[in-house]
Amino acid sequence: METPVPATNVAHPATGEPTSPALSALARRWALLGALVNVLFAAVKIAAGAVGNSYALIADGVESGLDVAGSLVIWFGLKYSERQPDENHPFGHGKAEPMAALVVAAGVLTAAVVLAAQSVREIFFVAKSRPAPTAWTLAVLVVVILIKEALFRRVVHLGEELGSSAARADAWHHRSDALTSVAAFVGIVIAILGGPAWAGADAWAALVACAFIAFNGVRMLLPAVGEIMDVAPPPEIEQKVRAAAAAVPGVLTPEKCRVRKMGLEFYVDLHIAVDGAISVDAGHNIAHRVKDAIRAADARIADVLVHVEPA
Ligand SMILES: [Zn+2]
Repeated sequence: METPVPATNVAHPATGEPTSPALSALARRWALLGALVNVLFAAVKIAAGAVGNSYALIADGVESGLDVAGSLVIWFGLKYSERQPDENHPFGHGKAEPMAALVVAAGVLTAAVVLAAQSVREIFFVAKSRPAPTAWTLAVLVVVILIKEALFRRVVHLGEELGSSAARADAWHHRSDALTSVAAFVGIVIAILGGPAWAGADAWAALVACAFIAFNGVRMLLPAVGEIMDVAPPPEIEQKVRAAAAAVPGVLTPEKCRVRKMGLEFYVDLHIAVDGAISVDAGHNIAHRVKDAIRAADARIADVLVHVEPA
């Protein structure tokens, strides 16, 4: 049976930044609040857009819905990735996390393309034959923009306090949502004031929303692909590994060092040069001390494979 790792070492999946438990609990509460706000906004925007004749508002609502679905998939991916290594997965289940991000990114990018195609159709074929958006949709958008901007300010502050780029990324997503809604607001105002000649402005605003959706999709896709491809983690990790190994008595120099990330953890392969005249037993002891020193240097390092070279 697999048992989940107890959540003592709370670190962000993408950056592995350690955070204090109380603050990260606070960050999780704000992330949950953000998701609940998105559920509400998705429903309100899509309904208001349909009733109030605004395609931009519908696209904005679909974006909020995608945010919710994305958060859910990521959450399950993260839960699964925390499972401990088992017979079939000796390196653990960490890759479940970037795979979940990949699935979400694919969904988000598909939605961006479908919505964009729909917006173009609206601009060229449908907009002129439709009644202009109704003015009260603007009131809905003002409330939405104010709440999203407030969420941005609170969460970005929290992100600074935590030093967590997860919370910061979350905060900037709130602001990008606010900007999507600003674009919808502007499009609707132009469509109402401009009359039939400017009826396409609302769908142009939807196209702006698509650009934001695509941008968020790509921003999610790239780190996920990097992690699946075992891209080199931030150089600080390797520097820490080398410094810890070099400080162990008997190590002449640390040589080749490879680090890869599995979920929240790192796996290290390290070559060390030792005096070639010492016994296998002595060399083996040095290798063990190197492993312990490296694991002590950073709690996120799950395992270290040390290869001993005679100098
Ligand atoms: Zn969003």
